[in-house]
Amino acid sequence: MTVISRFAPSPTGRLHLGHAYSALLAHDFARSRGGRFLLRIEDIDPGRARPEFVGGIVEDLAWLGLAWDGEMLVQSRRLPLYAAALDDLRARGLVYPCFCTRAAIAAEIAASAAAPHGADGPLYPGTCRGLPELERERRMAREPHAWRLDVARATELSGPLVWCEGEKEIAAEPSLFGDVVVARKDAPASYHLAVTIDDAAQQVSDVVRGVDLFAATHVHRLLQALLGLPTPRYHHHALLSDAQGNRLAKRRGAPSLAALREAGADPHRLVEELRAGRLPDGFLVG
Ligand code: GLU
Repeated sequence: MTVISRFAPSPTGRLHLGHAYSALLAHDFARSRGGRFLLRIEDIDPGRARPEFVGGIVEDLAWLGLAWDGEMLVQSRRLPLYAAALDDLRARGLVYPCFCTRAAIAAEIAASAAAPHGADGPLYPGTCRGLPELERERRMAREPHAWRLDVARATELSGPLVWCEGEKEIAAEPSLFGDVVVARKDAPASYHLAVTIDDAAQQVSDVVRGVDLFAATHVHRLLQALLGLPTPRYHHHALLSDAQGNRLAKRRGAPSLAALREAGADPHRLVEELRAGRLPDGFLVG
């Protein structure tokens, strides 16, 4: 079977060294196995994604010498497909509309003595899960709402699930995230839904991405099972950080690739150094 990997950046800013590292690992994974390397633009967050950064991604990958195969896939052009998957989940009673605001959720969590915690902090307390059908319909007609996965129901349906992390088998525990949002108030899909559908649509065999997304794989595995999609192999890699242990993506002022280019950095050398695990300016893989 042909190995297919992908790089799936969100165009919310210029790419930095951490992105270059991740793109390079995904690229080399496929190329060293005679496989294909794909590009996907994950631009469904209307608040943060900006079209002007898509050109920057293309420019930065070209500067690094990383060529992808075929057309790049752009998530914002695929919204009807995500909506259809949501319809399917809705028809099977696996999702419910959620009218809560962030503030209301935070207040409810603060008020409850023992709010359950998951992979990302306190879990959604389930406020809208048990609303009577009539109230749901009445409120849906006039209130903005997200759609949440009923994780208890979904896992009951799917049964136990596993995925391959490199050579290791991991037991999926989607309840770590509680009832995740699969469609947002302001977009017909969430990251979790779109990434699951698109990894299947692009026939990705091997997902190579940062370890910060390891936990999200629990949810992706469940969505694959519910939507009848294949499960790729996963390879979550360590993240770059600076000498003080600050993650590059979170660090203010992390150098963008555009800034390195302007400063006259040699992209071939940079790529070779990254491949050898030697990072510029005291950055570490950790
Ligand atoms: N779009 C995500 C990001 O930029 C990556 C998604 C993925 O690799 O699964 O963090």
